[in-house]
Amino acid sequence: MGTPSLIPYGRQSISQEDVESVVRTLESDFLTQGPLVPAFEEAVCSKIGSKYGVAVNSATSALHLACLALGVGPGDVVWTSPNSFVASANCARYCGASVDFVDIDPETLCLSIEKLERKLEDCRKSGKSLPKVVIPVHFGGQSCDMHALHRLGKLFKFSILEDSSHAIGAKVVWPGESSPRFVGDCHYSDISVFSFHPVKIITTGEGGMATTNDPKLASRMRRLRSHGVTRDRDEMIGESEGDWYYQMLELGLNYRLTEIQAALGLSQLGRLDEFVRERQSLARQYIETLHTTFSNPDTPAPGLQTEPSFSMGARHLFVVRVPPEKKGQCFDGLRSAGFGVNVHYIPIPYQPYYRKLGFQPTHFPEALRYYREGLSLPLFPGLSRDHIELCVSALAKCLSDP
Ligand SMILES: *Cc1c(COP(=O)(O)O)cnc(C)c1O
Repeated sequence: MGTPSLIPYGRQSISQEDVESVVRTLESDFLTQGPLVPAFEEAVCSKIGSKYGVAVNSATSALHLACLALGVGPGDVVWTSPNSFVASANCARYCGASVDFVDIDPETLCLSIEKLERKLEDCRKSGKSLPKVVIPVHFGGQSCDMHALHRLGKLFKFSILEDSSHAIGAKVVWPGESSPRFVGDCHYSDISVFSFHPVKIITTGEGGMATTNDPKLASRMRRLRSHGVTRDRDEMIGESEGDWYYQMLELGLNYRLTEIQAALGLSQLGRLDEFVRERQSLARQYIETLHTTFSNPDTPAPGLQTEPSFSMGARHLFVVRVPPEKKGQCFDGLRSAGFGVNVHYIPIPYQPYYRKLGFQPTHFPEALRYYREGLSLPLFPGLSRDHIELCVSALAKCLSDP
């Protein structure tokens, strides 16, 4: 036998019901553009409380369509968090806009509202362009302070596009409200985007969805998802020439989700609460195990992501921070012990493509510091409690090695 397979940092959970609903779709009349895509959109909306949902073939596509619908184009600037996957910034580049970053809060690891406010004020004073859109990223499935971000959006007149790729099923309680809302209900944003990649909370293989409460943004994204073509007479220029008639009104794309994927998505959505509960419970177990393992003050406990009091995160990731000089040995040691730890994220401005545009990772010191220290431990439904204990003791061993 070769080396035992790694326990990955994240993976999908596919039930027999998920399999059956995909197979039923394969035997049905529609493999694409049938009834399941709108049914999936409606189911997500009614679950999370947004008015409209636009299903697409990835969160990357959803971010692109959202930027287009918000009017992002050449000459505009879009700001996002450096501690994210490259797609959070690339969406603005697809539209010909420039990108800039706002460093993270070292506790929550999400875009820092104080730094955002300072940067906005500096731009206003020095006459530099203010952002057209700000893209907060709900890192690890934990919401940014959208209440504060929304206030700044009104003050500085930018749109808000949430990258909620990690956060379907996450909840928040905003000031002055008593009942929780789901992330992605767009109470404090224009558009929010979910990812259904297999490592995320629910999956469609590949896939994503944009949610919004604005009917104009929804219909624009819908049209752009399918070549910029409309069959709606009210949108047409001039008269319709018959029931066969359609018009291409603008340059769109083919970003459609298939019926096969929507069938899987609908079935997975029914398990969302169960997935999130299990992720939260596994995260609690990590925290307790870390607490008992590192009770000796000689070995300092790894740092954790702080969850603000308004947030009940979906726990897409469980991250620990280790001393930077030990990160390499922890990564290698945990991997040889069978734990497929990973790093989220190499700061976006660290990437050669963004460096060529003039960014220096040292301009975002907290994101860089977090990159030097952060490790994502395995966390997914079906991970066993024994694995958590073993993973934490392997981590303790790696940390105590000289
Ligand atoms: C996964 C992810 C994306 C991209 O999602 P896809 O569905 O793979 O395109 C974008 N942003 C963040 C923060 C992600 O984690």
